[in-house]
Amino acid sequence: MSSRSARAAQEPFPPFRIDPRDVKTEHVSCAVCGGDRPRPYRPRMYSVAGVPFHLVRCPCGMVYLDPRPDGPTLGRMYSDPAYYTEGYNLGVETENYFDRKDELVLQYTETARALADELGGKGELLELGSAGGFFLEGARRAGFSVRGVELSAPAADYARRELGLDVFEGWLEHAPWQDGSFDVAYADNVLEHTTDPLGTLRKLRALLKPDGHLVVVVPSYVNSPWFRALLLAQRVLPRKLLGQELVRILKLDPDRDSGHPYHILEFDRATLSRLVRAAGFEIVTVAGSVPLPAHLFKVARRDVKTRLLRGVFRMLDFGMRRRLLPAARLRFLLRRRAT
Ligand SMILES: [Zn+2]
Repeated sequence: MSSRSARAAQEPFPPFRIDPRDVKTEHVSCAVCGGDRPRPYRPRMYSVAGVPFHLVRCPCGMVYLDPRPDGPTLGRMYSDPAYYTEGYNLGVETENYFDRKDELVLQYTETARALADELGGKGELLELGSAGGFFLEGARRAGFSVRGVELSAPAADYARRELGLDVFEGWLEHAPWQDGSFDVAYADNVLEHTTDPLGTLRKLRALLKPDGHLVVVVPSYVNSPWFRALLLAQRVLPRKLLGQELVRILKLDPDRDSGHPYHILEFDRATLSRLVRAAGFEIVTVAGSVPLPAHLFKVARRDVKTRLLRGVFRMLDFGMRRRLLPAARLRFLLRRRAT
């Protein structure tokens, strides 16, 4: 492969710019309880082309962006190539998603094998927000028959071209599949991006077979006691000691927002439980964990501070998985309820 085509394979996106005049916003009420009396939570959490966006918190416990970018503005944000470097994990990862293909496919093959064990079988799997198709490829290797739906045209195109996957490009509502088609639906770090999470969950429920399962993974750090305590302690935090990397991961840099508002919803265990039940699911299991930043766990990094941080992350993960500590990420295994 020439260096030019290698570069093209790594950078599937054209150059990107949003004009501040094209940033349009809309007011929304709480997606979980319908209430419209939120309190300020974290002002200026995000920005698009210099336009700031603020997180608010509903008395029901839900945290969300209000006002938020309107549909076309949100759509434009996903055409930013930076979404696939720092954007897609809001600062936790810094490496290009597409460059991590081999590593992620291997990792997801294990995830899908564990899922098959958990469900007691394989079958037809649908992934909502399948991005470059790495989980779908892992699930295919684990024995599932796989299809995906993805809004981002370059990502959907990549999954079809590079991996030969069956990916529908567009909104879930417009996908061509018949109701009752799938044994399992998978939504990993997707629901927090959706403008109508209840409608999305109901549509997924309809696409499932009567005894079908849904896996939902969401980040929950921003709507956790961790983040609230750190916000309160922000003024006295030993920023120098924590270091820039950690301050960025913890979203505590007062001089820098966390980039584009990709996460318009911030669930916790209670609010997501309420929403999935309203959508017609019963909860089979809920597990907490913390995302382990990949760059921190690179073998090449062996300095004392990195090793210390790895230890901290592993301890936190242990505590969260055993429900001793509030979770930074939640995984719900759900079953379609009959009525
Ligand atoms: Zn609410």
